[in-house]
Amino acid sequence: MKTYDADLIIVGGGLVGAALALALKNTTLDIVLLEGREPQLDWPLESWDQRVYAISRASRRLLTEIGAWPLARAERLCPVSAMKIAGDEPNSRLEFSALESGVDELAFIVENRELQRALWLALAQCSNVRVMTGLTAQALDIQADAAYLTLADGQRLSAKLIIGADGANSWVRQQLQIEASSKPYQQFGVVANFACEKPHYGVAQQWFMADGILAWLPLPNQQMSMVWSCYQDRRDELLALSADELAKQVAQAGQSRLGELKLITPPAAFPLKLTQLEHITRSRVALVGDAAHTVHPLAGQGVNLGFGDVAELAKVLAEVHPERIGDALVLRRYERARRESVLLMQTVCDGLQVLFNNDKPILKSLRNIGLNLTNSAPWIKRQLIRHAMDS
Ligand SMILES: Cc1cc2nc3c(=O)[nH]c(=O)nc-3n(C[C@H](O)[C@H](O)[C@H](O)COP(=O)(O)OP(=O)(O)OC[C@H]3O[C@@H](n4cnc5c(N)ncnc54)[C@H](O)[C@@H]3O)c2cc1C
Repeated sequence: MKTYDADLIIVGGGLVGAALALALKNTTLDIVLLEGREPQLDWPLESWDQRVYAISRASRRLLTEIGAWPLARAERLCPVSAMKIAGDEPNSRLEFSALESGVDELAFIVENRELQRALWLALAQCSNVRVMTGLTAQALDIQADAAYLTLADGQRLSAKLIIGADGANSWVRQQLQIEASSKPYQQFGVVANFACEKPHYGVAQQWFMADGILAWLPLPNQQMSMVWSCYQDRRDELLALSADELAKQVAQAGQSRLGELKLITPPAAFPLKLTQLEHITRSRVALVGDAAHTVHPLAGQGVNLGFGDVAELAKVLAEVHPERIGDALVLRRYERARRESVLLMQTVCDGLQVLFNNDKPILKSLRNIGLNLTNSAPWIKRQLIRHAMDS
């Protein structure tokens, strides 16, 4: 079978891989985007994906520039007007609002599949991206002149650069034995969607509790999406509950702030882990998104970090001659540019996770005092919010 020669192959067409292909649409690069699953473009409008993201302002800017954000349907997006965080002692709290930050909204909540749909639609307009779906990669060989990829159906592809955008258990990373240190949190993110008795006014809420971290993210039509980060026994309990009982327990855990809840999307659970890599590039290879790093979801920043990778890598690749895109030195520029932001986000999320999952009385006092102090310090709050919105 003849080998197809591309300039760039992206393995993984999730949000990050698809966004990277789009971000390179105005270059002369011949790009192959390979995705193992078939795209989902239609679903009943009353059905809501359990997997939702808080998209930061920086990510939205990128998605707008690459032409995907305008294709996300307005009725499936929910602007976040404020964020309320509660500690595990009465009255310990930290609150941010769009109004006090001088912006229209802090973030947008959007479903994974709605954003993915917008990316697929935008990709259909790109003449330099060949999208191959329903096909997985089977073998990868990196040579001095090119990267060679064999697909499950026997097709062979070559490129000057191969991108691993294939998620937390990256196949590309494993094939090339790129070392990754992984710290399982022994926790799971239990997600589910609910209709609410009372309006949420676009407010996102989060509770740091003795047995986990509960987040309620506002969805359109007086609905909300829950992420409950908890240990395995709690996960098993939550998943085994009837719909009514789960809704009751989730409402109780959130002090019934949105009145009674009604389950609209069944719960699912994802294992949580911290993944850190010393190097996310080598000659002819770069990793992006969860293939390059994972973080605890307590700050809702995982996919935003991935979009940060996209912005930086696209900038680096657009600046060099197409012949040089696979050079180790060129790719090192991308690696260096991302190191600090990724490490900072991982350290903050990991630190908060450790601080709040701890029974020691001294730590309990400290974390709650910390929340209240931050809440009463407008300058620190402004810095925090600016970082969260624009990272
Ligand atoms: C419970 C939970 C809640 C979260 N909440 C948030 C949040 O609020 N905000 C946020 O920013 N992030 C959040 N995250 C993190 C977020 O889900 C990830 O950061 C994001 O999905 C990573 O996108 P990705 O494109 O890098 O990887 P993925 O979404 O994993 O996509 C990888 C793609 O590669 C494809 N693929 C894999 N292997 C192959 C192969 N060999 N050949 C072809 N295709 C392949 C897969 O089919 C998949 O489509 C959360 C995560 C969890 C677990």
